[in-house]
Amino acid sequence: MLKKLCPRQIAASLWSLDLEDLKGKGITAIILDLDNTLLPWGSNDIPAETLRWVDKAKKLGFKLCITSNGLTGRVQQIAATLDVPAVCKAVKPRKKPFQKALELLETCPGETAVAGDQLFTDILGGNRLSLYTILTNPLSDRELSSTRLLRRVETYVMGRLLKKGCLTAGQFSTRYSAGGRERG
Ligand SMILES: [Mg+2]
Repeated sequence: MLKKLCPRQIAASLWSLDLEDLKGKGITAIILDLDNTLLPWGSNDIPAETLRWVDKAKKLGFKLCITSNGLTGRVQQIAATLDVPAVCKAVKPRKKPFQKALELLETCPGETAVAGDQLFTDILGGNRLSLYTILTNPLSDRELSSTRLLRRVETYVMGRLLKKGCLTAGQFSTRYSAGGRERG
């Protein structure tokens, strides 16, 4: 179970992700979480950095798909602005939304990454399908109260992953060191 919660990579933010490196690893598509990954939680304003990042990823040939537990109207509107497909009301970490995203992307798990800010939804769901999982730091402190509670369990699990040698000290500090988070 613990291994299923271990991200393959940890990035301070989506924006700081080394896309060329990802490409070198054979990744051709990225499934993206919405809230606190592409934009601050609950916001409808897409940060300029996200617009630039999506543009860059597309120019490098990456296929993108949003997969969000959020409601259809808002998610579809943001997806339309970014001109990427979306799976809404996803109920991550269930396998189904990720399978749907793979269908939309027309890629197989081995060439597909998932990037998101939560261990128990994005990383667990991605690992269940053997996707290349990337944990990003949340873009803002605002989130559901249930998520805030889960963050405590997340911190405990991350500590266990470090202790077991599943995570390096560098990866751990990207998540938890002061200044590691790019909060908005
Ligand atoms: Mg999120």
